[in-house]
Amino acid sequence: MRHVAIVGSGPAGYYTAETLQKADEIAIDVIDRLPVPYGLIRTGVAPDHQSIKAVSRRYEGVALTDNVRFVGHVSVGDDVTIDELTELYDAVILATGAPNDRPLEIPGAGLKGVIGSAAFVGWYNGHPDFAHLDPPLDAPGVTVIGNGNVALDVARILAKTPGEFAGSDIVAHARDALAKSGVRHIQILGRRGPHQIAMTPKELGELGHLERASPRVDPADLPPEGDDAMLEPGMRKSVTHLRSFAANPVAKPVTIDFDFFAMPVAIEGEGRVQRVIVERTRLDADLRSHGTGETYAIEAGLVVSCIGYQTPPIPGVPYEHGRGRFANDEGRILPGLYCVGWARRGPTGTIGTNKPDGARIAEMLLEDIGRGGGKAGRPGLDSLLASRGISPVTFRDWRRIEEAEIKAAIDGAPREKFTSIDAMLAAIGR
Ligand SMILES: Cc1cc2nc3c(=O)[nH]c(=O)nc-3n(C[C@H](O)[C@H](O)[C@H](O)COP(=O)(O)OP(=O)(O)OC[C@H]3O[C@@H](n4cnc5c(N)ncnc54)[C@H](O)[C@@H]3O)c2cc1C
Repeated sequence: MRHVAIVGSGPAGYYTAETLQKADEIAIDVIDRLPVPYGLIRTGVAPDHQSIKAVSRRYEGVALTDNVRFVGHVSVGDDVTIDELTELYDAVILATGAPNDRPLEIPGAGLKGVIGSAAFVGWYNGHPDFAHLDPPLDAPGVTVIGNGNVALDVARILAKTPGEFAGSDIVAHARDALAKSGVRHIQILGRRGPHQIAMTPKELGELGHLERASPRVDPADLPPEGDDAMLEPGMRKSVTHLRSFAANPVAKPVTIDFDFFAMPVAIEGEGRVQRVIVERTRLDADLRSHGTGETYAIEAGLVVSCIGYQTPPIPGVPYEHGRGRFANDEGRILPGLYCVGWARRGPTGTIGTNKPDGARIAEMLLEDIGRGGGKAGRPGLDSLLASRGISPVTFRDWRRIEEAEIKAAIDGAPREKFTSIDAMLAAIGR
């Protein structure tokens, strides 16, 4: 019997398990620090994008196969060390994602009201680490830093009316806070121009159909239309949306302004953020941005920085500090230790990108470990955890948590999530 531990139950973890479980003589434990599975599918993907979240049904299918087990509420690095896991399993795969915000390194970034997107997104999605965030939504201005899909998610969630959340699983504390929000002007800052965005057409197009909010683009920021021909088709579509926002400004009570060629250089305020100081940029021939020296201020009571994520280091695991991920050679970290998904590649790509990644790591690992080395595997982990008084959450437990969440849903919503670990555990009688 071959014993494999996958640390992390997000897309990368379950896609890897999906390939592994087809092999003979294998037992796979999927370990997660939370009592609930699926990683960013639950806590990252926007609550008003339920069709995307539906991919979790596929992971459920994997989780329910005989040779795959969910070991929830066990934090690797805290409850159990990497050395202990590599001792117990033939292979350990780190699929821990990249849950930490890349720091915004400008003066004033520590002011109250300056929040990273991991925290802000975690707050509206009910991640237990961020349930108490209480972001300030009282001032009319919000600055969103970054030109990727996460910035779009954040802007859209801030702009929606309560009615527009119908059918979503946005959590109660965020639903209530956003219903009372005083936010009226959302400014999305990008250091470069419309041709350098990392925003996909569907997400960008949605901004054009919001009830009380309208996107605005300065026509002067757009390159000549003929230049769009050199873009790949998806990007061309995205830029077409920007052109349409520029050509057809619509007056609505909430504005979402795309501020291109704009680099935040400082954040100021008395005790909390009040304004962002922005420097105009220009691009060089290699499309790198450079400050021009021209600055201006934007009033903002909340700043959400969506500039990327990092994998937190785990003691004993080689780490690539510059790129914020585990040091690895095509997924191999050390003998018996692998990584996959965002923990391997860094925070890029869609959910689907993790599928071939998981399959490749699984195949490589099966070749590496051969028939296995007579390791203790599951029973070994169980007795180690029991000796520490740790009782993991099983997949059956998770389904009871899920049932309770579905039962608590408000009209039309798929579920009302528990937002604390205590509440999750209480739902299974602990
Ligand atoms: C805000 C946001 C929105 C997104 N929206 C979309 C979208 O609409 N469509 C799309 O295709 N992609 C989207 N993505 C990208 C997608 O979520 C990622 O590609 C994918 O989740 C990465 O998978 P992963 O398994 O590597 O990491 P994750 O999904 O982050 O999973 C990592 C798991 O590891 C667990 N873990 C971490 N550390 C430990 C530890 N020490 N011990 C035990 N467990 C641990 C975590 O609890 C988590 O469950 C979005 C990403 C973000 C951030």
